[in-house]
Amino acid sequence: MTTTADVETYDEVYVGGAWVAAHSAARLDVTDPATEQVYAHVPDGDEVDIDRAVVAARAAFPGWSATSHQERAETLQRFADEFEKRTSSLSALLTRENGSPIAETGAASAHAAATLRYYADLRTMLEDEVRPFPRGSMESVVRRLPVGVAGLITPWNYPLALAMTKLAPALMAGCTTVIKPAPETPMHVRPLVEAAGAAGVPPGVINVVTGGGATGAALVEHTSVDKVAFTGSTVTGRAIGQRCGGLLRSVTLELGGKSAAVLLDDADLDLFGQSVVRLSLRNTGQTCYNCTRVLAPIARYEEILDRIVDTVRAAPVGDPMDPDTVFGPVVSARQRERVEGYIEVGKQEGARLITGGGRPAGLDRGWYVDPTVFGDVAPNMRIAQEEIFGPVLSVLPYTDIDEAVRIANDSSYGLAGSVFGVDEARAQQVARRIETGNVGINFYSSNYAAPFAGRKDSGVGVEFGPEGLASYQVFQSLHRKS
Ligand code: NAD
Repeated sequence: MTTTADVETYDEVYVGGAWVAAHSAARLDVTDPATEQVYAHVPDGDEVDIDRAVVAARAAFPGWSATSHQERAETLQRFADEFEKRTSSLSALLTRENGSPIAETGAASAHAAATLRYYADLRTMLEDEVRPFPRGSMESVVRRLPVGVAGLITPWNYPLALAMTKLAPALMAGCTTVIKPAPETPMHVRPLVEAAGAAGVPPGVINVVTGGGATGAALVEHTSVDKVAFTGSTVTGRAIGQRCGGLLRSVTLELGGKSAAVLLDDADLDLFGQSVVRLSLRNTGQTCYNCTRVLAPIARYEEILDRIVDTVRAAPVGDPMDPDTVFGPVVSARQRERVEGYIEVGKQEGARLITGGGRPAGLDRGWYVDPTVFGDVAPNMRIAQEEIFGPVLSVLPYTDIDEAVRIANDSSYGLAGSVFGVDEARAQQVARRIETGNVGINFYSSNYAAPFAGRKDSGVGVEFGPEGLASYQVFQSLHRKS
């Protein structure tokens, strides 16, 4: 690493347990979204870099996959310990990478550690199982084997968490890996591999090549990659899915969303008011499962709108390093342009702009956008249909529950959602009618012990839970005479 005028330049990719000179001469700028300052350069890895990383992962596979389940579980536990030692440094690094408020990133290393511990505890899912033939006296031994080399491609919004969601089950299953982080957020991989090394993860089990879309495409394309796990936009996911289909390569795609929060007529507005920022605008609106459409019964529409607007206006916008900040900058100039473009679309479509719509006063540097709420949004408007991925909320009126369910399901996405109502049984009944991979009742949070599986344009396959571990496994049935 060299440092000039406050810019750190890294020239290496992580291959076979060491940072080695990148083949690619191209470098990516890494920019702090709160200051717009470039503070690092990292390699924009090319096909040769990807090939070296995949070859290292392939070479490490026989050894790692042959370790006992107990050994792998112990390694994951030590890996978790190492994350817990790095809590505050990691949190500041993550905030600098993508502008997530420090109140958000403060939990990131604990979350990474907990994910590793959860998968370490699933080691019994790796054991052989004997299943008798339903007829006759034979039996089958069902073996669960690691799929092989896994290519893990991640987005910028929760860079560490989304890498660990893939890495923890992949490692526990016995796979070796190549991580390709998003070009906006390539810095967290350094503490990640440092923690892995300190925990005794053997060389070659985790490899990292930084870079952009072409680097990711080279990873997907590589003939020695057995599985691709991707989180990112639906457009990119579709392209990766098509390519993996052609190659008959196993693939998991966690993509975009446009989830709905359905407020029933008995919804507790105090509870909803306390929840709405985390539920619908978490991480400055850059969370895939945000309920960015709020569906409000017409009889309580203005009351609900007022509550949302009061809460959003009261939430501090500013320096993401400040522990009181709720809304930081968005990740990049490109993302701000996209968000502001959608705000214009909302106005042109005739939605009522109730708060926000511009840039916050006094924040001249940094990619800030005013938290924005639109009322009178019709279900067919683009701001009600397309993923914006910024601090923009659409509030839609409905007349009865059937209409609310219809609007909630009138989406090309099927990721998440929530239903608010004091009568929990009724709220659950409504939740069961929502066609998404997960729905919260009177709150929303994902649970890494339960499947997270977007439907429709939100993805293919499952992350989290034992199902997420199974997605890094292949099966062999040995039939024998009992
Ligand atoms: P993106 O699709 O632009 O990029 C994601 C990753 O894919 C990056 O690492 C990028 O370099 C890489 N990539 C780009 N083109 C590629 C190609 N052709 N082949 C292989 N890799 C390629 O997404 P983004 O803008 O970084 O992330 C935001 C999106 O991620 C949003 O749509 C959001 O909803 C989605 N997301 C989904 C989930 C989920 O679990 N469903 C979670 C977080 C984010």
